[in-house]
Amino acid sequence: MKHLSEEEQLDIYYEDGSEESKAHLKACRECSAEYAKFKRSLDAIKPEAVPTRGADYGEQVWQRLQSRLIPYEKMAAQCCWRRHLLGGGIGSTSGRVSSRRLRVMASPNSG
Ligand SMILES: [Zn+2]
Repeated sequence: MKHLSEEEQLDIYYEDGSEESKAHLKACRECSAEYAKFKRSLDAIKPEAVPTRGADYGEQVWQRLQSRLIPYEKMAAQCCWRRHLLGGGIGSTSGRVSSRRLRVMASPNSG
């Protein structure tokens, strides 16, 4: 008589064993004892419970992220320096140029 392999025992444990294996397990004292040990050790392995999140979980995440974030004012200053530059000196000059050009285009004979 061929005894159950570890794989066959595992199949029975996860309720996927063949009828032949299950019948053997019932009939064979040796395999039954072996399976009992096998089952005990597998039962001892409990899946780790997922930790529950506290009410302040969002706050904790924010605290961890905060140090890595660039403050808004700093970021705004970095991304908008061109606009300030163009809006100031260069911008007003080019505005004057383009309005003169418009006048020239509107009446090409005068000027
Ligand atoms: Zn057996």
